[in-house]
Parts: sequence; C-alpha cells; structure tokens
Amino acid sequence: MRLFVALLPPRDVLDELETFVAPLRQVVPGLRWTHRDLLHVTLSFLGEVDDRTLERLLPRLERATGRHDRLSLSLAGGGAFPGGGAHARVLWTGLYGDRRGLAGLAASTAAAGRRAGTPPDSHRTFRPHLTLARSRRPVDVRPLLEPMSSFASAPWTAATVHLIRSRLPAGGRTKVDYEPLESWPLRAPRD
Ligand code: ATP
Ligand code: MG
Repeated sequence: MRLFVALLPPRDVLDELETFVAPLRQVVPGLRWTHRDLLHVTLSFLGEVDDRTLERLLPRLERATGRHDRLSLSLAGGGAFPGGGAHARVLWTGLYGDRRGLAGLAASTAAAGRRAGTPPDSHRTFRPHLTLARSRRPVDVRPLLEPMSSFASAPWTAATVHLIRSRLPAGGRTKVDYEPLESWPLRAPRD
C-alpha cells in the first residue's frame, strides 16, 4: 500500500482557503484544483509499504509523534513547483508559524519510516506546503502567484499526525483517494 504522513488543517482554515481561491479557479486552464477533502500537508512520503513493514512502522510513528510538541501553524502566500511558475505542475500555499518544529516533525516521521524499512524518500529536502492544484502538463501559473501572495489564514494548532493510505487513480477511478489509517497526538503543552 502507498502511504504518507500528513497534517490536516482544520475546517475553518480550509473554509478560508476555499473562499479565497474560489475566484482564482478559472484563471489558468488545465490546472486541476484539489478537492477540499483531499487537502493536506505532507510530512513524509513513505511510498509502497507491505503489511510487515506497516507493523513495524506504526509504533515508530507513534513514538516519533509523541516526542514533538503541538505546532502553531498558518497558511499563507503561494508558490509553484518547479520554482518560477512558468512551467509549473503544482501550485501551493505555504506554511508559517512554527516552521522549525514542522521540519523537525517531518524529519522524525521520515526517520521512523526509514527505520521501519520503507523505501527511501526520493525528495530529500522537506519543503512545507499544501498543494492547491496540479497539472499533468507544465502550465504557467504566474498569474496566480500575485493574487495568492495576499492570502493568509488564521493560525491553528496542529495536534494530530495522520498516517494516510493513498490509492492512485485506477480501475475506472479518475481521482486519487486517501484513506486515513491511524492518527497520533502531538505532545500537549504542560500546564
Ligand atoms: P496524484 O499522484 O494522483 O497526483 P497525489 O500526489 O495526491 O495524487 P500521492 O502521489 O500518493 O497522491 O502522494 C501523496 C502525498 O505524498 C502528496 O502530498 C504528494 O505530494 C506526496 N508525495 C508523493 N510522492 C512523493 C515523493 N516521491 N516525495 C515526497 N512527497 C511525495
Ligand atoms: Mg503524486
């Protein structure tokens, strides 16, 4: 099964994002905007994992998550992969707030995956982002970058890390399908 570890922004933040991008959806033909139920922040991509590896993975991810504090995060701005946006395949919004904590958590979940024997991640550097839209062919998303630069969501506290199974389009299905398998709490602040 194909697995990744992710944070899921809360409903009110997704509402803000949807409201903001609604008038932008028609600007670049060919861009496929992600359905709101599928919006997520990938912490680590674990790739194809068999049942035995999954058994080793679950306790490791639980421990990794429990070693990290809850994160204060917000979404803001926009960018593209690849960088300049003239030949983009992905349009994203960025993550702000506790970016150092976010990077640390991402690294820990990736390490948990490696120790459990998941295939090595092909993307070495963690670039925190939330994918808004994709295109099969490279498209010029530069007309969206200026309007996206004025987007900023309310902050939220990320308290839960999710392990998600991804089913890529196959057998007549045209869209990717994500199934949450497990979730673990981040450390609550001591009072
Ligand atoms: P599709 O591939 O059909 O466009 P998707 O990218 O949403 O759909 P997956 O490819 O399973 O579905 O990816 C799940 C998550 O993991 C996404 O956030 C994706 O960006 C990320 N991801 C996928 N492959 C990699 C990779 N090699 N390195 C890092 N992150 C990845
Ligand atoms: Mg993909």
